[in-house]
Amino acid sequence: EPVIGVFALQGNVREHLAMLAEVGVEGKPVRRPSELDAVDGLVLPGGESTTMGKLARSFELFEPLRKRIADGMPVFGTCAGMIMLAEDITGGIAGQETLGGLDVTVRRNAFGRQVDSFEADLDFAAFSTPYHAVFIRAPWVERVGRDVEVLSTVSEGPDAGWDRAGPEAQHSRIVAVRHDRLLATSFHPEMTGDARLHGYFADLVRDH
Ligand code: GLN
Repeated sequence: EPVIGVFALQGNVREHLAMLAEVGVEGKPVRRPSELDAVDGLVLPGGESTTMGKLARSFELFEPLRKRIADGMPVFGTCAGMIMLAEDITGGIAGQETLGGLDVTVRRNAFGRQVDSFEADLDFAAFSTPYHAVFIRAPWVERVGRDVEVLSTVSEGPDAGWDRAGPEAQHSRIVAVRHDRLLATSFHPEMTGDARLHGYFADLVRDH
């Protein structure tokens, strides 16, 4: 049975560990390189991506994380964690560094200032009923590379609680993707007690 780490320098670490326990996987907090070496997959929680990057640097996890991702370790990035996995970001501060690996462009704080947070029911082909998702100053995916699978989108409307007028308006935005063994969501899957995405990730780690 695999062990899945949770990057534990920032974010809802306990909640992610609880979700992993619920799907029957051993989860371990990861704060140092030796702890990273001991896991088969990793959850990168939400939080604030520039801070997360700086913390990863000062705890000497940044380069080891890059190396594990390049070597094929499965990673589940949520919200700020999605930003950390993105090859390209927009709406960030100049020169913001990411770990990369996931061939997408992610826009930070994409849903607009008026709507800091909202909830929406999302359809996933892998799930028979909608997944209730909590978005907090969430990014969206603006470009997906050829090998990236779109797992879910959120539609404009009262339920989604966001709108954008003008020529850039679109009716749906990409909020969940998978690129081989990298999984990423714009929202926080640890907050609603629905462990299906952690289960999906655990299967991906087991298959790897
Ligand atoms: N807005 C945050 C960032 O840019 C992400 C928010 C979150 O993780 N809930 O890093």
